[in-house]
Amino acid sequence: MTNTLIVGAGSAGCVLANRLSADPARSVRVFEAGPTYRTLPSELLDPGHLPVGPESRVVWRYRGNLVRGKLIGGSGAINGSYFIRPPAADFAAWSAVAGPRWSFESVLPVFCDLEADEDFATAPGHGGPVPISRTREFTEFSAEFAQQCAAAGFTEIPDLNAPTAEFGFGPVPLAISRGRRAGPAITHLLPALDRPNLTVTGETMVTRLLLRGTRVLGVEWARGRERGRTYADRTVLCAGAIESAALLIRSGIGPEPLLRALGVPIVRPAPVGAWCTDHPEIGVEFPDDKPDEPAVPLEYVLEMGELELRPYTQKFTPGRRRIGVALMHPESSGELTLVSADPTVPAHIDQRYLRSHRDRARLRDGVALTADLLGRRIGPIDDPWLQANLGTSQHLSGTCRMGRASDPRAVVDEHGNVHGIDTLTVADLSIVPVPLRRGPQATTVMVAAHIADYMVM
Ligand SMILES: Cc1cc2nc3c(=O)[nH]c(=O)nc-3n(C[C@H](O)[C@H](O)[C@H](O)COP(=O)(O)OP(=O)(O)OC[C@H]3O[C@@H](n4cnc5c(N)ncnc54)[C@H](O)[C@@H]3O)c2cc1C
Repeated sequence: MTNTLIVGAGSAGCVLANRLSADPARSVRVFEAGPTYRTLPSELLDPGHLPVGPESRVVWRYRGNLVRGKLIGGSGAINGSYFIRPPAADFAAWSAVAGPRWSFESVLPVFCDLEADEDFATAPGHGGPVPISRTREFTEFSAEFAQQCAAAGFTEIPDLNAPTAEFGFGPVPLAISRGRRAGPAITHLLPALDRPNLTVTGETMVTRLLLRGTRVLGVEWARGRERGRTYADRTVLCAGAIESAALLIRSGIGPEPLLRALGVPIVRPAPVGAWCTDHPEIGVEFPDDKPDEPAVPLEYVLEMGELELRPYTQKFTPGRRRIGVALMHPESSGELTLVSADPTVPAHIDQRYLRSHRDRARLRDGVALTADLLGRRIGPIDDPWLQANLGTSQHLSGTCRMGRASDPRAVVDEHGNVHGIDTLTVADLSIVPVPLRRGPQATTVMVAAHIADYMVM
């Protein structure tokens, strides 16, 4: 019998597997739908390459141009390496719905224990397995952007992970070491693979939870043509904001009308997928024919509370100069549903970006500011213009929201345990109950570590 079964060896799953298997008395088994490697192929280590194009064999694809990593390390193995902690205000909102365990004071030590910052090693609160560094030689685009921000009066923040870093521009803290992407597989899972109490099995898609009443006994899985069942004392979903929610719904834990429409027997009505959030991004682009230089996608950012300005390096937008204007605290939220109980049919995500007047107004302000910074003119920034230039940041979260049992929007409690279901935990980005004012990778890793700490207590 496996003590703990983890579904998904992505950003959160890698951290959880490491922390739980550090106790030799506990057996830990991980199922990952994508391939696993002992050594990651070199093209996945190049932080200047995001393997998400049409030819990629290591991503899940969904409507709305959404992709997720499908391999050991999950989305953290293919992402832009940006690794920034959200500001204290986000945790004030989070702890208001989920309790003091998620206050800034509670999570700050967890963040601090995760990072080994190569640039601020002597500053308090930087000592852990995730190597953090910043670009030293900036591309011309990034350097110009920084000059434009300074000239416009914005404050430069050398360490965007400092607890007080809130408004201003600075070099992006990156999970990169010696020029190589340092995703969660590298920092957490691969170093633990030789432990006798840890088993990681790739190419294995968990299709459904096995339940007796409201108790989870384990999972059903598919590996090629093989089908099987694995039993565990506790099952932890780390399948990400889309697939963790999809798995719950396929197993009868979800909105009642949806379960009825899908013909899935109802185990427990729950608002799974009813709320999800992302960072909608407007691309402001101008032609530019300067030759590109090798670089990571993002070297600098400007943080403005509800907006983040992202001057992408030219390698990622050849022939154009692009600033992403991202709405970091949207009012509008989306919804995730299934159109079929068949696990091979992708979930449907209705992003519902910019439904709110306030969201559109914020983005208009951000686009106008970008034009000012660059000294360019942009035509009328009306609703059709916003829609035509709108895209996703790939930061979907919140489909299995955390909150108290009395909260009708909540799916899991403060420990990630699913309300009303025994021996089932969700520990990934799907449980975050508020929009985050920064990209989510650092938070995902923190969430997994924080939940693991509670599980081993
Ligand atoms: C292209 C891209 C770029 C990004 N860039 C950044 C960035 O630079 N900075 C930042 O902060 N954020 C970034 N993000 C977002 C960030 O990477 C993710 O939000 C974060 O990694 C999510 O972690 P997770 O553990 O919740 O899910 P994931 O890391 O996606 O892990 C889920 C894992 O579960 C597996 N899985 C799913 N379903 C099943 C199943 N049924 N059975 C078995 N296994 C399953 C998946 O294959 C995957 O390995 C980016 C995302 C993408 C897609």
